[in-house]
Amino acid sequence: AENRLRQAQRMEAVGQLTGGIAHDFNNMLAVIISSLDLLKRRITADDARVVKLIDNAREGANRAASLTARLLAFSRRQSLNPQTVEVNTLMMGVVELIGRTLGERITVETKFGEDIPPVFVDPGELENVIINLAANARDAMPDGGTLRIETARFVPNGEPLPEAEVASAYALISVTDTGQGMPAEVVERVFEPFFTTKPVGKGTGLGLSQVHGFVHQSGGHISIESAPDEGTRLDIYLPVQILGRVVSSAPRAEMPLVGG
Ligand code: ADP
Repeated sequence: AENRLRQAQRMEAVGQLTGGIAHDFNNMLAVIISSLDLLKRRITADDARVVKLIDNAREGANRAASLTARLLAFSRRQSLNPQTVEVNTLMMGVVELIGRTLGERITVETKFGEDIPPVFVDPGELENVIINLAANARDAMPDGGTLRIETARFVPNGEPLPEAEVASAYALISVTDTGQGMPAEVVERVFEPFFTTKPVGKGTGLGLSQVHGFVHQSGGHISIESAPDEGTRLDIYLPVQILGRVVSSAPRAEMPLVGG
């Protein structure tokens, strides 16, 4: 619990900081971009080298703008809009979307479980989470491989899930890749904001910390399993909604856990 609190406080602080910086930075970028556009219109086309330099600067500014957009989205992450969500229906839509962006060398396999009760989460954010995981899987499989997406109904067997709200059942979403995997010291840090092993401009280190934040805000639990050259599996447990609310308010001792 202390760990979770520390992570939440850290995310909050990082969110505020990045939000503030990204906002100011965006204003400065707007000045740079509009000045470059004006400059380009005034340059006569016969000076190709100058045009090229302006284009380079514009391209850099575009990349900076897309980074600030991601940072702003990250800092706004706190406000979720939970709704009743049929996990399989949502996942089928996301899988279709993902399939089109992964390229031919990555095979997508799916297995949708039966009898999964609806969950109460922000559907747009859940989609983002899956898209994030798929993007990481794609990056981990530069030579191709298999991305496996599974859903299942999960009933805890005695022990409640660490850090999750106590629920009689969970919707389990598993995302598995056959990529390069990670050593233990990377696995330990993947949920930290800004932790990345990717080159500058490629990774922000915000993907999995966002995923982690969403899962915990939704009362769920996330676990990761990975080994170098063997691939990576992420399991997301979301508490199911019963009688119009997430089962979370009953004291732990009174919660009958099936099989426990
Ligand atoms: P980013 O993708 O921008 O680096 P993330 O928070 O999504 O940020 O991931 C952090 C790090 O975790 C990555 O840089 C990578 O080292 C590792 N990682 C995440 N997902 C995977 C995966 N499926 N396979 C291998 N490594 C991964």
